[in-house]
Amino acid sequence: MKFSIVTIPGDGIGPDVVREALGVLDAVATRFGHSFLVTEELMGGVALDATGEPLPAKTLAACKAADAVLLGAVGGPKWDDLPGSKRPEAGLLALRGGLKVFANLRPAKMFPQLSDASPLKPALIEGGLDVLIVRELTGGMYFGDKGRNSAGDEAWDTERYSRLEIERLVRVGFDAARGRSKKLCVVDKANVLESGRLWRETAKAMAAEWPDVELSFMYVDNCAMQLVRNPRQFDVIATSNMFGDILSDEASMVTGSIGMLASASVGAGGPGLFEPIHGSAPDIAGQDKANPLATVLSVALMLRHSLGLEKEAQAVEDAVGVTLDAGLRSADISTGAPGERLVGTREMGAAVRKAFVDQGLGAQNGRL
Ligand code: NAD
Repeated sequence: MKFSIVTIPGDGIGPDVVREALGVLDAVATRFGHSFLVTEELMGGVALDATGEPLPAKTLAACKAADAVLLGAVGGPKWDDLPGSKRPEAGLLALRGGLKVFANLRPAKMFPQLSDASPLKPALIEGGLDVLIVRELTGGMYFGDKGRNSAGDEAWDTERYSRLEIERLVRVGFDAARGRSKKLCVVDKANVLESGRLWRETAKAMAAEWPDVELSFMYVDNCAMQLVRNPRQFDVIATSNMFGDILSDEASMVTGSIGMLASASVGAGGPGLFEPIHGSAPDIAGQDKANPLATVLSVALMLRHSLGLEKEAQAVEDAVGVTLDAGLRSADISTGAPGERLVGTREMGAAVRKAFVDQGLGAQNGRL
């Protein structure tokens, strides 16, 4: 099948990790006979430098016309002093809004090979960890009214949600839970925030449609604590934009490293946006140190959620597993245990591609 993909490497380690992920996509094309027409576009700091805009109109138009978008990361110290609307991150928010991708799926799944990389005691993660965070992505405080008073010594950002915005996000959470362990926890701050009370009220009113899913609620501060006290109690967490942003970084560390977690942003049928949850990591950019696996796993999510290629997605995830089984570790997931081998970004990407190709040859020979 033929697909058009826009890729936005962005800033910092973005180009390092996207290069490896595209290598894996090439291998998918060869092995499964698909054709991916990949076009590269600018966003973030590199776009500011080239055009003066964090999200050039050409980039947004290309993304809207594509089947899916694969993003690295944006931002860095060079652009930190620009006003909010001109920062690289403003480009990302505008892209999410422009594509109307209101639901961000962030699977925090621990590869069993990485249990030693988790900072949690083995007893807490024995038997694996698989939490799906469904984060609202185009509303709340990141998009609400914001500003400063004329003296510049007072600032505000507004948390505002409509019932419709909550409903469509919680629906994604219920549906996801139905295909998993059937538990949905809506995380809010309903004891303090009026918007939190609307989240709770809305989710409760929807529950009858999913009688097979157990619905619970938790305050965000408690959830932050429970994620390290007993993360296995969670199946699907649905929450607002800001709370989901913070909780998913926490969940990522519990699974081993932020360098492992992928995300899929989807909306009402348009192109999906796929990106690692980490940022541009300027401290290690261009040094062959970044872990490319979160971006490789984002390709798997892209194949699954936007392109309908489940078999191919599973094969990419399996190839990552084989690579970890072989002991290859980038610095962020290395523990120094016997059997591990420290590798850079390029070697990790090449190893996944090789595992992917070998797996295909094995399947042809009837061995897999
Ligand atoms: P970050 O995720 O970039 O880095 C946090 C820490 O994790 C750093 O020590 C970094 O080296 C490490 N790290 C991140 N990804 C890694 C990987 N793949 N492999 C190995 N180590 C990795 O977060 P930050 O430092 O808070 O932000 C840096 C810049 O990224 C800022 O400009 C921020 O605004 C931007 N940012 C962008 C996005 C995005 O594009 N989606 C998300 C978060 C932050």
